[in-house]
Amino acid sequence: MPNWDNFFDHYQPSASYRDDAVSARACQLAATAGRLGTYAVGAMLINDKGDVVAEGHNEIFIGNFQSDLHAEMVVLNKFEAGNREQHKPADLTLVSSLEPCPMCMSRLIYAGVGIIRYVCDDPEAGMVTRISSLPPLVQQFSKDMSQVWERADCSPSAREAAFHIWQNSQAAANRKIIKNSRGRLENSGQ
Ligand SMILES: [Zn+2]
Repeated sequence: MPNWDNFFDHYQPSASYRDDAVSARACQLAATAGRLGTYAVGAMLINDKGDVVAEGHNEIFIGNFQSDLHAEMVVLNKFEAGNREQHKPADLTLVSSLEPCPMCMSRLIYAGVGIIRYVCDDPEAGMVTRISSLPPLVQQFSKDMSQVWERADCSPSAREAAFHIWQNSQAAANRKIIKNSRGRLENSGQ
């Protein structure tokens, strides 16, 4: 079995897949997050030339617990703090290693990012595949902005690795979410 957490350190992106290189970078960020003890999800914001506008990974369990710091939120926070004059959100593409959750999908709609691509599905908490369950006005915003939501065009091995890297982090992080709500995170270690 491959060592998934190091899979992208030696990965050679394929020119046969449009998003392979940026997907690999998002997954590398995801693996870093996993090593730091939080959900292994990474994200990139790129312009239409493929240049990186912002990048980041999940940070909710890094330092003080902060519930909103999913990878997509970290990247959007960086963008909105610094690059507003240079880029219109509609011209940008966000690539996440994992299908966005309800919170991040809503934020991506309110932020007005043009294209959203994700490397692997999140069957349990992904919202993109459940877009018809969003409130009508939120769906309408997305339609009015002609947002594109789709899986990244990457190699099957990259998609499989993204899923395993995320899964390896998930059970422990889910337990920490519950522990935090009961005030037990500080003293509980993992
Ligand atoms: Zn999220």
